[in-house]
Amino acid sequence: MVGWPERFEVLQTGVSGCGNCMGRNAGTDPRMVNALAAQSLGSVVANTLWCHRHEGEPGMNAKDILEQLIGFPSVVGTPNGDIVAWVKGYLESHGATVTVLPGPEGDRANLFATIGPKDKPGYILSGHMDVVSASERTWTSEPFRLRAEGDQLFGRGASDMKGFLAAALAGLPAMAKMPLSRPIHFAFSYDEEAGCRGVRHMLERIGNLCAPPLGAIIGEPSSMVAIRGHKGKAAARIEIHGATGHSSRPDKGLNAIHAMTAVMNATLKTIDALRSSASDQNFEPPYSTLQIGTISGGRSVNIIPDLCVLELEARAVPGVSPTVLLEPIKATAEAFENDGFRTTWEISSTYPALSLDVDAPLARLMEGLTGASTLAAVSYGTEAGLYQAAGIDAIICGPGDIARAHRADEFIRLDELIACEEMILRLAATLRG
Ligand SMILES: [Zn+2]
Repeated sequence: MVGWPERFEVLQTGVSGCGNCMGRNAGTDPRMVNALAAQSLGSVVANTLWCHRHEGEPGMNAKDILEQLIGFPSVVGTPNGDIVAWVKGYLESHGATVTVLPGPEGDRANLFATIGPKDKPGYILSGHMDVVSASERTWTSEPFRLRAEGDQLFGRGASDMKGFLAAALAGLPAMAKMPLSRPIHFAFSYDEEAGCRGVRHMLERIGNLCAPPLGAIIGEPSSMVAIRGHKGKAAARIEIHGATGHSSRPDKGLNAIHAMTAVMNATLKTIDALRSSASDQNFEPPYSTLQIGTISGGRSVNIIPDLCVLELEARAVPGVSPTVLLEPIKATAEAFENDGFRTTWEISSTYPALSLDVDAPLARLMEGLTGASTLAAVSYGTEAGLYQAAGIDAIICGPGDIARAHRADEFIRLDELIACEEMILRLAATLRG
């Protein structure tokens, strides 16, 4: 947090009590009072930060909420009614207006909630409620039960990204007490880990849910640095169906694996061409890429294989469509239909790149809220590109480290949760009437 004075100093002057703790101990706890927040935003924010994290106070702090959220095994691709119901109940108990948006699957839903004036443009706090499975064998504790060890909080989704959800929800009671002149929205999605499936359905209806937003903060783990860009992605699955037969008469069959080698060669050729194509030095590597991820086919060495399946993905720098990058490969596969093969082509997941200008108002706002410069790009993808494609400026900023995601003993630190909650309260403070 470059540029911010030392945190959690005792605030020497100007602290009055808030409604929660009735002023008890206000300003005397060195752990909880953020001197800078108080100086820049007034003592209401500083007091609220202190109060609602105080042990034993009514209400839940970010750790308590994270414990609840981690307890729901909301694995991608499975029903999520339990976690949606809990979050809805929490939001409503603090006065938010909540809309549950069931997806076409019928057993899972997005959730959109608002505090503050609904008819004014405001800011979206965006996160996904699903997590990847916890099938790694090296977990040292139950992945769907929060385990605290020192200031580290372990559990599936702690960093990716229930930590952000918990910090945002923990800030709600304080935000709900502010006289907001613009709204804060909570946009929580499902099945993000399956190619951002859920959020698309929410974005289709965003025009009915709120006034055109000023921006969206996507709380993927970024160590609370605001990030303005990522590549776009498209993943495809190709099937080539041939004709089987005895391997002694390959001339009588249609060998699907042989056909697929042409598709693989076309992929390698495109990969080579991309190395010298549109480049963006903000990314590593600084150009668009393709990769074959899986290939399967054949049953026995003495049978002509009648099916070969290949999965590949494209990752494109901003300004390049990842789906278009796959077109030559698709054309190569489909050309085999002229020789009697049958082919199928399915885009299994796709999302657009994110590219927010360094001088965009949202980028400038986040610099102020985090006290650090924004970062141009990261290598992982998020829902932010879809928000931007829907006409909403988006930026990534959340607690925790992406390196801890999708692996055993995923964790987040308590101070990271607190830093995120502070950032969100600072955002709300800028919206006070
Ligand atoms: Zn995530």
